[in-house]
Amino acid sequence: MLTDMLIGARFERGTETEEPILNPRTGETVLNLPEASQSQIDAAVAAAEKAFATWSRTTPAQRSGYLLKIAERIEAEAEEFAKLEALNCGKPINAVLNDEVPAIVDCYRFFAGAVRTMPGVVAGEYLPGFTSMIRRDPIGIVASIAPWNYPLMMMAWKLAPAIGGGNTVVFKPSEQTPLTALKLAKILADVLPEGVVNVVLGRGESVGNALINHPKVNMISITGDVATGKKVLQAAAKSVKRTHLELGGKAPVIVFDDADIDSVVAGLRAFGYYNAGQDCTAACRIYAGGKVYEKLVADLSSAVSTIRYNQSDDTENEIGPLISRRQRDRVASFVERASELKHIDITTGGRPGDGGGFYYQPTVVAGALQEDEIVRREVFGPVVSVTRFSDVDEAVAWANDSDYGLASSVWTKDVSRAMATAARLQYGCTWINTHFMLTNEMPHGGVKQSGYGKDMSLYALEDYTAVRHVMVAHG
Ligand code: NAD
Repeated sequence: MLTDMLIGARFERGTETEEPILNPRTGETVLNLPEASQSQIDAAVAAAEKAFATWSRTTPAQRSGYLLKIAERIEAEAEEFAKLEALNCGKPINAVLNDEVPAIVDCYRFFAGAVRTMPGVVAGEYLPGFTSMIRRDPIGIVASIAPWNYPLMMMAWKLAPAIGGGNTVVFKPSEQTPLTALKLAKILADVLPEGVVNVVLGRGESVGNALINHPKVNMISITGDVATGKKVLQAAAKSVKRTHLELGGKAPVIVFDDADIDSVVAGLRAFGYYNAGQDCTAACRIYAGGKVYEKLVADLSSAVSTIRYNQSDDTENEIGPLISRRQRDRVASFVERASELKHIDITTGGRPGDGGGFYYQPTVVAGALQEDEIVRREVFGPVVSVTRFSDVDEAVAWANDSDYGLASSVWTKDVSRAMATAARLQYGCTWINTHFMLTNEMPHGGVKQSGYGKDMSLYALEDYTAVRHVMVAHG
């Protein structure tokens, strides 16, 4: 197991406080990893600065070649990456191997193509005697900070468009899930010129805080909590850094009376509980029409009660535990407070799982009302609430009545109703008769307090480059 940070071409161990890295399936400590010192952070930023001078002048075809090599190496070591991610996050190995790694490899391949096809406006004479052209140039040094729910995938979403766009990066994984980032660092050091990507370890309040406040950092890209996003904005304000914020979510799911209930139930069973609900797009806030409400609650509860977790044969598991004891206790406290309300019925689950791991039972909270905490706050666990609505205006108003604006879905057989409802939702993404499906060609990102800036797609390349105007006088 690799334990050293990557600073320029050097592999170094951190010299500060040690952080325990846990196996969430057992609660046991896998190893302790020290975090970076201020001088190591400075060295990583200096390495990125030095590399920027030449990396920013490489051609798109050259950068494309590097991204393809990274993709190839991850694909070649897919099993090792999957094992490490499963160990550090508690995910079922098959979910990482079959769902995540192929999407990660495809992300590098997508951007390898995309950097060579950046669209732009044509040059022209907008003042007589002057020709104007638009350039898209790299921004500089990007501090990239990732969360713990999809460590290697968030790293791909951040690195591929950033380095593809000609920037250099200092990357910090979550202090809870650094293992795959350290493995990838070795590959990055083999493949990329020195200093293009640097990887430092540490907690948000120490190393993260030093990075976002670093005077040489030009852009901060962070995926995390809304509260963390606000701290990033405060830090960015001091030196006017560009920011790219992917924050939380609380996805509404509107189920109309004419929806195909079997496919709704199958969809919610999968997309409400995938990754134990630790997903910012999780289908967790259901609004059901009056005629389907009872059947939906009954069928969903029975389907959710069959979700397999904590089996000794991991190939049987559909979901894993939560990332930490703290996260498990947080999820439990949300459900406890909800269950104290008279109108709420916990129709399945509702308790921590057995054993030493950080498991929580897949749970359905029926009868929730719009003002309930369980409907309003991000639980980030295997917990789905169901609320009855009376008409489309109420459903749309409740769906939009949220601080978040990342993902949403609408389920109905009526195409006109689906389109009309989707048009009224204030979310970065609305799925119709599905949920959760992502593809590298399409943008992912929020509105409102879910943040701004897009991951994946050509829009991410736009976010990681600056529009510049060059004008030539020719008389
Ligand atoms: P978090 O905000 O606690 O941490 C995210 C990262 O930010 C970590 O690397 C952490 O060390 C760092 N960080 C924390 N405080 C910091 C500070 N003051 N300065 C600099 N860095 C700091 O979030 P988390 O608990 O790791 O992840 C879960 C959250 O991420 C959830 O709210 C979830 O919705 C969100 N998320 C959003 C998306 C999205 O695409 N919108 C994707 C995944 C997760």
